[in-house]
Amino acid sequence: MHCPFCSADDTKVIDSRLVAGGDQVRRRRECLSCHERFTTYETAELLLPKVIKQNGTREPFDEAKLRAGILRALEKRPVSVEDIESSVNHIKHSLQATGEREVPALLIGEKVMEQLRALDEVAYVRFASVYRRFKDLTEFRAEIDRLENQPDR
Ligand SMILES: [Zn+2]
Repeated sequence: MHCPFCSADDTKVIDSRLVAGGDQVRRRRECLSCHERFTTYETAELLLPKVIKQNGTREPFDEAKLRAGILRALEKRPVSVEDIESSVNHIKHSLQATGEREVPALLIGEKVMEQLRALDEVAYVRFASVYRRFKDLTEFRAEIDRLENQPDR
């Protein structure tokens, strides 16, 4: 990085240590031109990507909205709060892991379906029926049949 004193390109790291309980790296640098010293702090960027809606607009990722969608599908179903929270966290981590600054809303919907499918089949079908907007009852029935015929069930 550029020296903040003389804007020279070359600086060297003379000391590097973990701070903030290991969440940050503090680096002491020295400019190779003017020999001034300065400090930088490095933190991993763990921001959640923006969501690209189907109409092309972008909005910030909304954890409350994600949770509300999952809870709606799970209404009156025997699933624990811990399992729900762990699904929400799983989805957040997998979005962070994409490394993308923007992801389509559809991708989040797919991830929710993936989680619901593992948690509760009824909730999965409820969510999928709204989300995929099954064209007719035949298609909806086919999805349920497909679920019922899964060999691991
Ligand atoms: Zn300098």
